[in-house]
Amino acid sequence: MDRRLKGRSGRGVGSSCRTMARGDRHQKKDIESALKRAEAAGLKVTRDKGKHRWGFVICCPCNKNHVVYCTPQSAGDEGNKIDNFTNRHRGHS
Ligand SMILES: [Zn+2]
Repeated sequence: MDRRLKGRSGRGVGSSCRTMARGDRHQKKDIESALKRAEAAGLKVTRDKGKHRWGFVICCPCNKNHVVYCTPQSAGDEGNKIDNFTNRHRGHS
């Protein structure tokens, strides 16, 4: 996947995790599309309205999960991690 410049958000840290009205999409496009791929591969995507955690990608048969953060340092990297998790657990369910 393509690498993005990191750390250009420029808004400071800590306050950008807003809950939006239609809360089931991740605000970062790269992550949202990785989550879509995870779901398409049969993994479970769960939301957690915590402070920093957006939710989890869960492989039920393996009882493994990957934490998805609201404000990762690099959305591209985080998307890659989700893709890795997805590829590892694709077809387990
Ligand atoms: Zn699995």
